[in-house]
Amino acid sequence: MKNFGIDIWANNNFIIENSQVKLNYKSSPSLYDIAQAIRKDGVRGPMIFRFPHIIHKQIQTLYSYFDKAIKHNNYQGKFHAVFPLKVNQFPNVVEAITSEGAKFNYGLEAGSKAELILAIAKTPKNAPITVNGFKDKEMITLGFIAAQSGHNITITIEGLGELKTIIEIAKECSLKVPNIGIRIRLHSTGSGTWAKSGGMDAKFGLTSTEIIEAVSMMKKANIIQNFTMIHFHIGSQMADIAPLKRALREAGNIYAELKKIGADALCNINIGGGLAVEYEQHAQTTSRNYSIDEFSSSVVFLLGEIMDAKNVEHPNIFTESGRYIVASHAVLITPVLELFSQDYHEKHLSFKELNPPLIEELRYLNDKISEKNCIEYLHDALDHIESLLTLFDLGYIDLQDRSNAEILVHNIIKKSLYLTSNHSNDELQTLQSSLQERYLVNASIFQSLPDYWGLKQHFPVMPLHKLSSRAIRAASLWDITCDSDGEIGFNQDKPLFLHDVDLEKEDYLLGFFNIGAYQETLGMSHNLFTHPNEYTICINEKGYNIEKSVESKNILEVLETIGYEQKEILKELEEDLETASFITEKERYDTLAKLKIFISQNGYLRTTN
Ligand SMILES: *Cc1c(COP(=O)(O)O)cnc(C)c1O
Repeated sequence: MKNFGIDIWANNNFIIENSQVKLNYKSSPSLYDIAQAIRKDGVRGPMIFRFPHIIHKQIQTLYSYFDKAIKHNNYQGKFHAVFPLKVNQFPNVVEAITSEGAKFNYGLEAGSKAELILAIAKTPKNAPITVNGFKDKEMITLGFIAAQSGHNITITIEGLGELKTIIEIAKECSLKVPNIGIRIRLHSTGSGTWAKSGGMDAKFGLTSTEIIEAVSMMKKANIIQNFTMIHFHIGSQMADIAPLKRALREAGNIYAELKKIGADALCNINIGGGLAVEYEQHAQTTSRNYSIDEFSSSVVFLLGEIMDAKNVEHPNIFTESGRYIVASHAVLITPVLELFSQDYHEKHLSFKELNPPLIEELRYLNDKISEKNCIEYLHDALDHIESLLTLFDLGYIDLQDRSNAEILVHNIIKKSLYLTSNHSNDELQTLQSSLQERYLVNASIFQSLPDYWGLKQHFPVMPLHKLSSRAIRAASLWDITCDSDGEIGFNQDKPLFLHDVDLEKEDYLLGFFNIGAYQETLGMSHNLFTHPNEYTICINEKGYNIEKSVESKNILEVLETIGYEQKEILKELEEDLETASFITEKERYDTLAKLKIFISQNGYLRTTN
């Protein structure tokens, strides 16, 4: 895996230069330098870096490709987009979206009461708000309140019950009726891990029969002029564009039929989200088979074609792509705390004046191994270690000899892997996976990469530095939770190789990329690890500014979130120390001070790295 697949997943947002990963924007700062500048102030543990310029780029790209397709196809409808809040509700993300989105009238989509409140508070008056998901009377009333306050809001009904509630509220009060959308249940389904949102047995949407019923209910209640949108969503991270095209044909025809049966105000088709992000690091497997160009052209062309055939005016097109907008803006930076095989370091060798002949032989192989002879020397070393282990079992060599033998063979294997890294063969590959190095990373997979834990979703990972030297250690990554699921194992088909580093001499920082969508609020506090420190970093021509930083919750705050009283916990700790016996009072005092510092920090590890 050359360059850790940066040319596959990074979408030109990151580049490798002078052996470091850099932002491919303005002053192109290196991620390693930014991280080390923050760590200089004593920050330890994982960090999330947010880059608003990448969110801006994604928003601009989405609008510009649809604009281009609309012009190219002479399409009569307009393009609109909303950001689905469930993908990332964090303030610094929503802030970046609404500030850049203002010039496009980019809106927000809400799927719960809390998200709806956030959408109403944060969406400018002329930008659209769409509301999906299951709703009760209260949530629908919130929609009326938003409409009354002047918002351009569309409540998409998931079933006839919700429409009945809308009609009920309209009768009960004089608040402005919001726009009404209908989520249609499509026959066609999406593809990929998240494709459960479409299909006959889908969780959401109205059947044809229910749609006809809804129209007659709205006519009867005299709110048919509020029915402006039909909506579908075929699932997240669409791997293939074909199901979307089928869905568009189905939805386009439903739209045209609805116009014929008197849905006069209907003017919008909302095609949901699902635009995929490239997460793969290996060229042989990629996440999607289309580009944003093909996606936008297909949508615009198909809808135009269907409407022209049925002689219906072109509808406005709404999208609710979320993953595409924010996945790439965030990077999780984690220091490596330990390489487990560092016990095999040459510095632990301790030879005797007289060593067993096979050990002397291994010493020779270890000293003289070269590109030419390495396969032969490797075979010899593997043969010798077998013999040496037998000699140990029979009591002919001692523990020190055995330790020396293990270290030497380990080194010979490492050297031969390195020397043959340009022309690997099957035998070496097998050796590699049996000789994995376990890298302990100061992070929690449950908190920061929950989709890896739950769905085995791969996220691109690479070191932020040392990129001019070859990474040859087959790597498995362990997090610091004490759960055996907190591991990203070595995968022979999609191998990850990292550097051999001496952590006593240098830091080793890894970056997990494209983590900006879904991971943050999905993340869970398993073992009570919290959302990491986050930094919003704005890059300018000369350098960069950390515009906002949010510290991770400290230990007492974490305990509070699950219902403990901070004061009570503190009191219990203090009482224990007060009654404990100390030789001097100063020591009691200092210990208490130390304890207070510890619990005012977050729970990630603070060892050297
Ligand atoms: C989740 C969701 C989206 C966002 O999907 P992405 O794959 O993130 O683009 C859009 N619309 C609806 C209705 C959703 O449930």
